[in-house]
Amino acid sequence: MNSVQISSTSVNLEAEAASVWQRCMELIQSRVTSLSLKTWFQPIVPLKLSGREITVQVPSQFFYDWVDQHYNALIRETITSVLGDGAKLYYSIASEDTEPVVDVVPAPLQSFQASAPSRESQLQASQQQLFFAPRAAFRQADQPIAQSNLNPRYTFDNFIKGDSNQLARAAALAVGNNPGGTTFNPLVIYGGTGLGKTHLMHSIGNHAIAIGKAKRVVYVSSEKFTIEFVDAIQSDRVNDFSYFYRSVDLLIVDDIQFFSGKEKTQDNFFHTFNTLYQVGKQIVLSSDVPPKELKGLDERLISRFQSGLTADIQPPDLETRIAILRKKSEDNSFELPQDVVDFIAANVTSNIRELEGCLISLIARSSLDNREITVELARDVLRMVVNESKSPINIDQIQRVVCEYFDIPEDLLRAKTRKQEVVNARQVAMFLSKELTNSSLKTIGLHFGGRDHSTVIHSCQSIQDRMNSDSSFKQNVDQLRRRIELNTR
Ligand code: ADP
Ligand code: MG
Repeated sequence: MNSVQISSTSVNLEAEAASVWQRCMELIQSRVTSLSLKTWFQPIVPLKLSGREITVQVPSQFFYDWVDQHYNALIRETITSVLGDGAKLYYSIASEDTEPVVDVVPAPLQSFQASAPSRESQLQASQQQLFFAPRAAFRQADQPIAQSNLNPRYTFDNFIKGDSNQLARAAALAVGNNPGGTTFNPLVIYGGTGLGKTHLMHSIGNHAIAIGKAKRVVYVSSEKFTIEFVDAIQSDRVNDFSYFYRSVDLLIVDDIQFFSGKEKTQDNFFHTFNTLYQVGKQIVLSSDVPPKELKGLDERLISRFQSGLTADIQPPDLETRIAILRKKSEDNSFELPQDVVDFIAANVTSNIRELEGCLISLIARSSLDNREITVELARDVLRMVVNESKSPINIDQIQRVVCEYFDIPEDLLRAKTRKQEVVNARQVAMFLSKELTNSSLKTIGLHFGGRDHSTVIHSCQSIQDRMNSDSSFKQNVDQLRRRIELNTR
């Protein structure tokens, strides 16, 4: 009896999801070309509706990334107009063969993957992890860490070995196998951008948890550490903050060069480092230069950083670039002809992120234009990628990056809330929209929940004032500006 009721409920949920999605498709249809509709929307399968939250399934990670990158705003608008304010969309990825994950993109659009998943397990997974909540975790310092901020997609299994990363990978694996138990403490990985530092660091954390060698693992960027620390000072919770970071088994801090010039944060981090080190807990750090070349960092920190192992990652050599292209195209179930692999590997040499970007554009172009993957097409894509780099920055992109940075849901920028952290993010986003786009004050206001142009002026002025009087705030805004420029290249 019971089981009949349960299954009839799930049938209802599915039917409701289907009817909501049908209405969304009708709206989307009028806004995209029929080819895009066919390629990117028809394969989406509605799974479940719960209140204003709809879960849909997409065929692959690549598909999800593409849709998220290109149709995020459209989908968000559509879902909101069909389900009303506060609508949320969850993605389930059908074809990944990894464990269920906790990877979440900034609300309200969120994703998770599941292994050849039963629908039930997918739905459970989606419900378990609604919000990415490092702040919440940090407030409950005495609880097990609910969110390590680890991205399960980054593992040793899918990290490709090559001469350029051989030492860093071997050291990372040793540390992942035995955190705190090797002489590699701290492990510092350094190298240029897009070479795999972040990937390796997440792999260490994921691996240590998977084999039961660490329970409390935290991955944090130095920027986030700084923001949380400042926040803790302002709200008189420095003790909680320190306690949280000093009670982990494995602390992973990415991009420590951003600690530069932030003396108080460095001081707190120095004590955190010592506390963990003394009790044999593992510390893993990354930086864009070797520790001794870090500018604006306290000498005593630098000398601590040098007390373990420092391993570099170099730009990938040709063989590694080829291996990466092969693996990534396989992962996306795309067959790349040998000459195309050779062509891309020969022409995109600087880093792995660019290599991936190029491959994804190529796959997308081929499926959008229905063209075979040839060297010709690859050449067009490379040219296009170069041209795209000049495409103007828009307000949506700015909002996305700002919200990621401050870790708040994007829809709050457009909402009425006056909570301090939201007001701050909103003002910074308005300021950067004014600086980085040609949009009028009126247009900017409209993008922030229909606010008046005088509100925009006021926000820009108050950010400018703060930047003039607070150099560390100015540094943060500058960092954010660079990040937006990089993200939208
Ligand atoms: P960094 O932190 O050094 O800037 P990331 O770790 O973010 O670089 O790497 C950029 C992208 O390249 C990521 O998508 C990552 O998965 C991929 N990547 C980097 N190195 C490798 C590798 N050796 N094998 C597979 N993917 C890699
Ligand atoms: Mg990184």
